[in-house]
Amino acid sequence: MNKSWNESARSSLKSANECNEYFGENIFKDFHFPIKIPLEFAERIDKSDPLDPLMLQILPKEVKATEGFFDSPVSDEEHSPVKGLIHKYPSRVLLIATSVCAIHCQYCFRQNFDYVSHDILKNWPDIENYLMNKKEVSEVVLSGGDPLTLSDKKISKILNKIEIIGHIKTVRLHTRTAVVIPSRITQELIDILDKTRLKVVFVFHINHAREISDEFMKNVESLKVHTLLNQSVLLKDINDNAKVLSELSSKLFESNILPYYVHLLDKVSGTERFLVTDKRAKEIYKILQTLLPGYLVPRMVRDEGGDSKRLVL
Ligand code: SF4
Repeated sequence: MNKSWNESARSSLKSANECNEYFGENIFKDFHFPIKIPLEFAERIDKSDPLDPLMLQILPKEVKATEGFFDSPVSDEEHSPVKGLIHKYPSRVLLIATSVCAIHCQYCFRQNFDYVSHDILKNWPDIENYLMNKKEVSEVVLSGGDPLTLSDKKISKILNKIEIIGHIKTVRLHTRTAVVIPSRITQELIDILDKTRLKVVFVFHINHAREISDEFMKNVESLKVHTLLNQSVLLKDINDNAKVLSELSSKLFESNILPYYVHLLDKVSGTERFLVTDKRAKEIYKILQTLLPGYLVPRMVRDEGGDSKRLVL
């Protein structure tokens, strides 16, 4: 019998010892950002390749202070008028739906974020009051952590609360869980999303075509009535190559997902090894445009200290 997504989450690798035993190598160590790797993702790693692009995303390294890298480079806290809510752009707000992720990506830009004070259900009266007075906000982005680590019941509860605010038309879910634990796309979740009056947009976080399993492709079929997009982070030695990004776009399109953004790395302390220079990023982008039709070329962008997203190429 197939495992439920909850069982998958529970059986994830969560320490250096478990990882070293699983991969048969003594290469994992526990550092400040705890290890979390679902077995569904671990199984996709080529154990014989120490430079496997999936392995490089989850292998922890010791953090050393480096000039130009900061604990919180995207200034989320400065744009949080109410705990749990981040408001950087006039028409949309982001809700920190949970602190939990299904996987811990070592390049994560929120690995030092103070999640404890940002519980949206606890802070809902203040969030609702803020949103009621912001008629220009038409879209709520559910982020985290990863909103799909919440139970279907909790997701339904959050959607019901958003639906009450008449001028909110769209809900956007940013998720990596759906790809690293594909069984997360449950029938109950599909039903909840089909019933909401809100327009639903998914933004998957997928960096490499090898992350996409047959199970994900099959399950995501059930979501195709919604808008399906993907964003990636441009990561050195993982996807800093036009051919790799082109393969990702083509694979996404097989599942009716459009490539939306490739983000240049947010300079979080400890992530120096993932940095791709602007010069290299521009070279990659130029080639990528020759390999794909325009609608499969994601926009390459960088978050500039919390201000509007800047199209860099
Ligand atoms: S899923 Fe996103 S928020 Fe979670 S650890 Fe990975 S990059 Fe960070």
